[in-house]
Amino acid sequence: MSIVVSASPWQPSDVVAEVPAATPSDVDKAVAASVAAQREWAAAAPAVRASALGAIADTVAAEAGSLAELITREVGKPAVEAAGEVARAAALLRYYAQQAFDPFGETYPAGGGLAFTTRHPRGVVGLITPWNFPLAIPVWKSAPALAFGNGALIKPSPDAVACALRWAELATPHLPDGLLAVLPGGAETGAALVAGTDAVSFTGSGGVGRAVAVAAAERGIPAQCEMGGLSATIVLPDADLDRAAADIAYAAMGFAGQKCTATKRVITVGGAELTDALAAKVAALDATPVISAAARGHVRNAIAVAESSGGRVIASGSVPEGDGWFLRSAVIAGLSSDAPLNREEVFGPVCTLTEVSDVDSALALANDTGYGLVTSIYTADLDAALAAAHRCESGTVKVNAPTAGVDFHLPFGGEKASGYGGKEQGKAAQAFYTASRTIQIGAH
Ligand code: NAD
Repeated sequence: MSIVVSASPWQPSDVVAEVPAATPSDVDKAVAASVAAQREWAAAAPAVRASALGAIADTVAAEAGSLAELITREVGKPAVEAAGEVARAAALLRYYAQQAFDPFGETYPAGGGLAFTTRHPRGVVGLITPWNFPLAIPVWKSAPALAFGNGALIKPSPDAVACALRWAELATPHLPDGLLAVLPGGAETGAALVAGTDAVSFTGSGGVGRAVAVAAAERGIPAQCEMGGLSATIVLPDADLDRAAADIAYAAMGFAGQKCTATKRVITVGGAELTDALAAKVAALDATPVISAAARGHVRNAIAVAESSGGRVIASGSVPEGDGWFLRSAVIAGLSSDAPLNREEVFGPVCTLTEVSDVDSALALANDTGYGLVTSIYTADLDAALAAAHRCESGTVKVNAPTAGVDFHLPFGGEKASGYGGKEQGKAAQAFYTASRTIQIGAH
């Protein structure tokens, strides 16, 4: 039997969870149980679903302290950000509780008859999640899935299994038996979920996301895959440099750079003198560990490769004593646009800094990537900000705000290799978690 073990990045000898992986036959049983519960759930009045989600939100809010501690212990997230993640999870649940009442469909002219569209739940959806938002991502997928009448089966990252199991423990008492379940495991369990459910929403790395999309396409089921990023922050000469530096330090190095929306490339225009301010902000941040020993090795190697090809560390942080998987954060200048750090996402506290002469060059460089998740622009000129925003090839563009940070009431997702199959969150969720049906009555 395969065992899932999750260890604390602060102290690797601290085993947070050790649970058996769900086998493909366990997945089949969970699907059957969720299918059985989902029929009644879908047929219930929206008020029933809204009330259950509201009760779960209350439970999450009541457990806020212990949930935040678990997030910090299991994935290394700083305490303030972990508390923010729990608050966001409760708010998401309340937001989607109300979406159970949203209108769906349109009516069309039909002579003396009636023609309209309506939406119905997909059935049982498979939700495959990463470790870096161990509560928010399972919630931002399962809350809309449930609000619109689906069953939801979550396959969390092995590195965040304790948080997901705690989420299920808090939520399931408010739901029909079997409707929602968490299935621990790795690739095999995830693949079994794709093979057995009616739609799949995935968040994680690009390679796995593309494999999930292919497997879903072979079965003819919808897939939504939110994948990695290589987000750029562009700083124009008229920007508030202190504010830009503080935001970039937070977005690039906060939670050790392990956010899909982290700033990975800083592009300064026309001699915007950011370096000193950025160095001070980066040096002042408290280090948090990366998720695993393997991740630390990978990031160290990427920094070594950058230094051996002419990269210069122009800002760095410190690391505390101890056994945790800490890494010194690094801003690296002097790399070409095709250097590995400017091409591939490295999930750690590292970003590059490149100076260019004008806005056109900055936008060309920002867009010169296969990814397209978030771009930030810092400037005091509204016209320049708007003109640039329309030219950024990314799912989200922010002005005078950090790339990191997602508002749950706004549609979120990437362009190019960062996203596949439509956006999630906000009012975009209904389109994925329901299918449209056209009904015609009488003359048309
Ligand atoms: P990962 O791709 O390694 O794993 C994601 C999930 O997929 C895990 O649950 C994993 O067990 C599962 N999985 C692995 N192989 C599978 C397979 N063959 N079939 C089905 N499932 C499989 O990602 P990770 O390391 O957990 O998370 C980090 C990545 O997630 C980064 O690339 C980051 O940018 C990305 N991310 C993206 C967003 C976004 O919204 N765009 C948000 C957070 C994280």
